[in-house]
Amino acid sequence: MTKFAPHDLCCVPCQISRQDFLRAALALAASPLLRFVPAKAAEGVEVSEIAPGVFVHQGRYELQSPENRGDMANASFVVGTDSVAVIDTLGSAVAGRELRAAIRAVTDKPIRYVINTHMHPDHVFGDAAFKQDNPTFVGHYKLARGLGSRAERYLAINKMMLGDAAFEGIEIILPTLAVETSTTLDLGGRSLVLETQRTAHTDNDLTITDTATDTLFLGDLLFSVHVPTLDGSIKGWLALLDDLAGKKAARVVPGHGPHAMELPEALTPEQRYLATIAADVRKLIKDGKTLEDATKTAGFSERDAWKLFDHYHVRNVTAAFAELEWE
Ligand SMILES: [Zn+2]
Repeated sequence: MTKFAPHDLCCVPCQISRQDFLRAALALAASPLLRFVPAKAAEGVEVSEIAPGVFVHQGRYELQSPENRGDMANASFVVGTDSVAVIDTLGSAVAGRELRAAIRAVTDKPIRYVINTHMHPDHVFGDAAFKQDNPTFVGHYKLARGLGSRAERYLAINKMMLGDAAFEGIEIILPTLAVETSTTLDLGGRSLVLETQRTAHTDNDLTITDTATDTLFLGDLLFSVHVPTLDGSIKGWLALLDDLAGKKAARVVPGHGPHAMELPEALTPEQRYLATIAADVRKLIKDGKTLEDATKTAGFSERDAWKLFDHYHVRNVTAAFAELEWE
C-alpha cells in the first residue's frame, strides 16, 4: 500500500509548478494508479487525488451565493475497477454537473452509487446531476424523513440565496438504498463500508470507509476551519468524537475543511468548540440564566478560531441550550 505523507494530502492545484507537474507526469507514466496532478473540469470544480483512486473536491468557506453555485462543502468520488461512487454532490445541480464533468475527466466507468453523508443542501442538492447515470442513491435510513420534512424550506432558502441561474435543476432526491446500521458497496477491487452514526451533527450522519486506502469520509461530523453547525445533538456529537478519536484510519476527509486530515488531531478543534459551548451553557443554566444570556456569551472564546462563526454560532448555542436545559 502506498503511504501518503501529510503534504501529499493537501496539494493545492494553483501551486503546482512546472517541475512538480513533470514529476507528477513521470509518476503517472510509471504507475497508472498514481495520479497526483489535480484533475480539473472544464468549468469550476477542481478535484485532487488524495490516495489512489480517491478524489476530493474542497468546497469554499462561504454561504451559498449565485457566484459560488452552492459549492461550499467537500465532495468526493472513489474509482473501483468496475464502477465509481460519489460521496456528496455539492449544493446545486449546476455544481453537481461540474463535479460530474470532473469525474468524467478522470474515468468513464459507470457512476453506480451516489452517497449522501447527511441531509444538508450543500451536500445533496447536486444529486439531480447524476440522475442520467441511474445510480443507486444511498443514505442513512433517517435521511429521507429529515430531508422530506425540510424539503420546502430548504428549496425556498436556496432559491433565494443561489438565485435563479444556480438554482436551476435542483431536485430533492431521496435514497433508494437506506442504510440501517451498515452496508458494503463493491466497486470492483475495493469496497466502501457505510455506517450509520448516532445523532450528532444531524440525526442522519453516515460515515464511509474506503477499504483499499483506509480513507474515512466523515461528512459533517468533521468540520475544520468552517465553524461546526449543530443540527442534531451536542451530547451525541461529543460522545461520537470520543469514539472517532480512537479509530485508526490512514486519513479522514472532512465535510468542510482541507481535502484530507489525520486522526486524532483533526478532531481536536471541533471537540474543543463543542465542549466549550456545552460547558458554558451548562454553567449558565445552573446559574439560572436565560437562552438570551447564553446567545451573548456562551462559546465566544472560540470566535477567532473559525470562519463563518457569526453566521452559525448563535444557532449552535440555541440548539445546545434547548438540549442541555432538560438534563
Ligand atoms: Zn451539514
